[in-house]
Amino acid sequence: MKANYHTHCTYCDGKDPLSAFVAAAENLHFNQLGFSSHAPVPFENDFGIQEDQIPNYCQEIDNLQTQTNVCLLKALECDFIPGMSTPFQQFKDTYNLDYIIGGVHLVRPQNSEKLWFIDGSKREIYDDGLFQLFNGNIKQAVTTFWEQTFEMLETQRMDIIAHVDKIKMHNQHRFFQEDESWYKILADKALQLIRQYDVVMEINTRGLYKKRCDAFYPSTEILQKARKLDIPVVISTDAHKAEELGWFAAEAEQELQRCGYGNVVHFDKEKGCFR
Ligand SMILES: [Zn+2]
Ligand SMILES: [Zn+2]
Repeated sequence: MKANYHTHCTYCDGKDPLSAFVAAAENLHFNQLGFSSHAPVPFENDFGIQEDQIPNYCQEIDNLQTQTNVCLLKALECDFIPGMSTPFQQFKDTYNLDYIIGGVHLVRPQNSEKLWFIDGSKREIYDDGLFQLFNGNIKQAVTTFWEQTFEMLETQRMDIIAHVDKIKMHNQHRFFQEDESWYKILADKALQLIRQYDVVMEINTRGLYKKRCDAFYPSTEILQKARKLDIPVVISTDAHKAEELGWFAAEAEQELQRCGYGNVVHFDKEKGCFR
């Protein structure tokens, strides 16, 4: 069973049209391909799908399905921003999506309208946000990221949680270390909630092939703990170009085996869930 459930096309910030990903999936002998455009957020941006384009996105996937043996799935990668983002389930119900990926890319400090963008290609944006929104207090900034993740898990319904420790990407071992006890306590709590709410965790390869990070999301220690908690996993390449569809998937499989995982889960179209 070969699949990728985390895929961005030209409806959001991806660089290739839907059809190019389907062709690439055929070449890779995939059984399933799930599209997960960034969901709309309530302010102007250049990364999310426009809300009025979602019906076209879904229709185009349906049309492509008539021309391929790869099972195509419709999803969105929804951003959780406290007090700002649309409930994930609303997107799923309105557009009859197969599943939802939930993630945090924009961290909202307490009592602020401003957002700290922790993703993207520019480390300077991460550093500027850290100093301007959190006075350089890395512990407070990182804790806010994790607490936003907890709130997402506690208040939103999602099938997969995206790149759970993305906060480490632009840190690059500079401001905090992942083996500090306060950090480990936060990551542990996220895992407890993932288990409690029965969410699938992805092992995301994008940081490695974009060379923005020297590890998978999440790191080995988090994966090992997730295995002990029996948290189900999928392998995600988070592809933004068709050629990226299978990048580092084999390495991710090896990493999962090293962490004790015997299998990954797949989407069951009849049941409408991962299992
Ligand atoms: Zn993401
Ligand atoms: Zn993504």
